[in-house]
Amino acid sequence: MESTLKRTWAEIDLDALAHNYRALRAQMEPRSRFLGVVKADAYGHGAIQISRTLEELGAAYLAISSIDEARELRLAGVHLPILQLGLTPSDQTAAVIENSVTQAVWSEASAMAFSQEAIRAGGRMKVHIKLDTGMSRLGFQCDESHFEQSLEAICRVCGLPGLDVEGAFTHFSVSDEDSESSRDYTLLQHERFETMLRRLAERGVTFSVCHCANSGATVSYTQFAHDMFRPGIITYGIGDQAQLLGLKPVMTLKSVIGVVKDYDPDTTVSYGRTFRTGRPSRIGVLPIGYADGFHRVLSNQWQVWTPYGTAPVAGRICMDMCMIDLTGLPQVGEGDEVEIFGPHNSVNEAAKLAGTISYELTCAVSKRVPRIYKKDGQETARELLLRG
Ligand SMILES: *Cc1c(COP(=O)(O)O)cnc(C)c1O
Repeated sequence: MESTLKRTWAEIDLDALAHNYRALRAQMEPRSRFLGVVKADAYGHGAIQISRTLEELGAAYLAISSIDEARELRLAGVHLPILQLGLTPSDQTAAVIENSVTQAVWSEASAMAFSQEAIRAGGRMKVHIKLDTGMSRLGFQCDESHFEQSLEAICRVCGLPGLDVEGAFTHFSVSDEDSESSRDYTLLQHERFETMLRRLAERGVTFSVCHCANSGATVSYTQFAHDMFRPGIITYGIGDQAQLLGLKPVMTLKSVIGVVKDYDPDTTVSYGRTFRTGRPSRIGVLPIGYADGFHRVLSNQWQVWTPYGTAPVAGRICMDMCMIDLTGLPQVGEGDEVEIFGPHNSVNEAAKLAGTISYELTCAVSKRVPRIYKKDGQETARELLLRG
């Protein structure tokens, strides 16, 4: 890893994570527990270190999206309960039980298959019932025309011998948007959630852990705290709402200027010749490209941050390198570090230019980029996900 370190790396600020955890924790009533969403390698930040830190900070639960992600955390010695939010093939039931994973159950058919497999494996699978209140993804549909049929199905599921039903949850589709129609829709989703929970309770079916609040709801609907809340993106200090709570970005993607050269006016830079110098120019080469997660769509659009000002990306971002225009920044030269995104250079803005969301940009930081973990300004761990 030493060889790649002075190339491109992601600094992961565990103090920022602790700050965000405490700020989010303060948002919700104390009885509501914190579930840290660490799927997709903790949104690219590295699930093991993030999970260990959240565990130390007092989180109650973690969530992932594949059984392999759960196994990775167990092998790393993470003991917190883990909720598998996503689809799991029923032939993985034994692995779910062995790794003490709580599985989301999204339909009666999946529940029956899990129950059968659990009995065959000689155990019981802990589950949370997923309610589809309007996301139209996984779960028992809670809209008017499916409500009664879902109610009956959930009652049957809760009686299956191979399942240990601990919780019920739902997921919002527009809780992070503040238009009136989005607010109405979020309230409707929550009303469906509560109605289903109440009708189930009338049938004697209750849950010890009910939860619904993602990042958007944690910011804007603190009344949805229930027993647990499930913030993802905002825990990492990014997304449009992070500023509202004074959260700090956890990831800083950095690179270092490898070469600087002078060019005459009217010189073209990089593939496709999409950038043309308009004046005598100093152009720097950075060892970061789209294979590191620096999306090519940001070519000629984004700018990297230096302590002396920002330097625009000049020309197309290549697979492993890109060029930046340093003409206005004579103090900046070879060997200097630049920030691709982070506290000085918002990933939210980069995402907007790329026509996407910040989630996609941190998730895209690739396995070739080492993650350097820092606490109290000191490096505490480093990870590189390349084989060998
Ligand atoms: C990803 C996910 C979350 C977290 O979403 P954010 O928008 O990152 O807060 C919460 N719940 C479920 C079911 C998810 O899939």
